[in-house]
Amino acid sequence: MINKEYINGILKKAKNPRYDEIKRILHKAKGRKPLNHLDIVMLLNAHDKKQVREIYKIAGEIKEEIYGNRVVMFAPLYISNYCVNNCKYCGYRRDNKFDRKKLNMEEIKQQAINLEKLGHKRLALEVGEAPVETPIEYVVEAIQTIYDNSSIRRINVNIAATTVEEYKQLHEIGIGTYILFQETYDTEAFETQHPKSLKGDYDYHLHAFDRAFEAGIEDVGAGVLFGLADWKFEVLSLIIHNEYLENKFGVGFHTISVPRLKKADGMELADYPNIISDEDFKRLVTVIRLAVPYIGIILSTRETKEIREELINHGVSQISAGSKTDVGGYHEEQETIDHDQFELSDERSVLDITKGLVDSGFIPSYCTACYRKGRTGDRFMALAKNGNIGLICEPNALMTLTEYIMDYSDEDLKVKGLDFVWKHAETIKNQTVKGKLIENIKKIIDGERDLFF
Ligand code: SAM
Ligand code: SF4
Repeated sequence: MINKEYINGILKKAKNPRYDEIKRILHKAKGRKPLNHLDIVMLLNAHDKKQVREIYKIAGEIKEEIYGNRVVMFAPLYISNYCVNNCKYCGYRRDNKFDRKKLNMEEIKQQAINLEKLGHKRLALEVGEAPVETPIEYVVEAIQTIYDNSSIRRINVNIAATTVEEYKQLHEIGIGTYILFQETYDTEAFETQHPKSLKGDYDYHLHAFDRAFEAGIEDVGAGVLFGLADWKFEVLSLIIHNEYLENKFGVGFHTISVPRLKKADGMELADYPNIISDEDFKRLVTVIRLAVPYIGIILSTRETKEIREELINHGVSQISAGSKTDVGGYHEEQETIDHDQFELSDERSVLDITKGLVDSGFIPSYCTACYRKGRTGDRFMALAKNGNIGLICEPNALMTLTEYIMDYSDEDLKVKGLDFVWKHAETIKNQTVKGKLIENIKKIIDGERDLFF
C-alpha cells in the first residue's frame, strides 16, 4: 500500500510548483473536484503568499460547508501507563523507570464521573500496550464501567494494534471510533523509533484497520506523529492509506489526528530533525482539508490556544478540552500531575474553551447522536457527502450546547450562551427542523436531557 519509491517520485516531481500549476489546482479545489497525489503535494509546496492564503481560504470554506461552525468536543482518558513497548518519543516507554499505574474499575468510574462533571460526553480511552497488566478483557470492562456509571455516551478507543478477535470484543462492547496512529509511514523511521517492541512490526501496525474492519468496527481514526519523518511524505501516505481502505472496504478514515511531537521524559526534541514549524503545520492541516473534505480532523491540546483557534477556522472539526495525559488525571481538586505522557500547550479548562468558541461564533458540540442512531461507517459518509448531515448536526450541536450551559456553565456563559443558541436556532432554514429544535431547547431548559435527532 505504501510504496516509498512511488511517493518519493511524486515528492520530487512536485518540488517546485509553478504559479500557474497551483492556480489550476486551486481552481479544482474551489470547484470541489478531487485532487490527485501530485496536486496534493504541490499544494504542500506552494510558496506564493497569496496562493497560500487562498489554500487557507478554500479550506475554511469547505469546513464551513460541511461542518458549519460546529466543533466537536472530547477528552482523552488515560487508564494505564504500563507499556511493553519502547517508543523512543513516549514518556510511557518501558525504559523510563517510574511507578507504573493502572486504574481499577472503581477509579475508572470516578474518572468518568469527574469528566462528566466537566461537561464531557465523548472520550478517547488511552491505554499503553501491556498484554499481562491490561489485556483486552480489562479494556472491555473499563468501557462497560464508564457506560454503566456515567453520562459519557461515546467512547473512542486508542489501543495498540491487535487481532481480529480482540477487535471483535471492542466492536461488541460498542466503541465509537477505533483510533490508531501509524506514527510514521516511513519504514526506516518506524523501525528506529520502535526498537525491540511488539509495536515495531510496521506491516502489522499498518494493517490494523483491515483487521478492525474485518471484526465489524465501522469507524476508524488514523494519525501521524508529525516530527518523526518528512511531513510531506506522511501527508501523502495518509491519503494513500485512506484510499486503500476506501477501495477495499467502501469506507476510509472517519477522522485524522495530527499530533505534533512534544517534549516527554526520556527524549529531547533536539534529537528530531523533522520537527515541523507552525507554518508547515498549518499548511498540512489545510491541505488535508482540501484533499479529504469529509474526514474529521482532530486537534489535541498538544497545540496552543492560538493555533487551535486559527485552525478551527480552516479545517479542524474536533478538539480535546481540559485534557490530562497522566493516569487518573481528572481530580475534583487541583492536584499535582503524576507522570504524564508528554507536555501540553493548551491548559485552559473546558469551560474557558467553550466560552472562547462561543465568543468566536463557533458552536461547541457535545453531540454523540450519529453513533447512537447507527449513523456510522458508510451510512455516515453517505449523509456527509450528500450534504444532509448538516441538517441533523447543527440542531444536535445546539441542543447539546444548551444542555452543557444548563448543567455545567457559570452565569456569564448562561447569559451569552443561551442568547447565542437562540440566535442560531433562528437561522435554521428547514422550518420543520427549526420548530422541533425550538421545542427541544425549551424542554432542555426546563430539565429534560439527552434529546437529539
Ligand atoms: N499505546 C497506544 C499506542 O501507542 O498506539 C495507545 C495510545 S498512546 C497513549 C497515544 C499516542 O500518543 C501515540 O500514538 C503517540 O502518537 C502519541 N505520543 C506519544 N508520545 C508523544 C509525544 N512525545 N508527543 C506527542 N505525542 C506523543
Ligand atoms: Fe507505549 Fe503507546 Fe507510549 Fe508507545 S506510544 S510507549 S505503545 S504508550
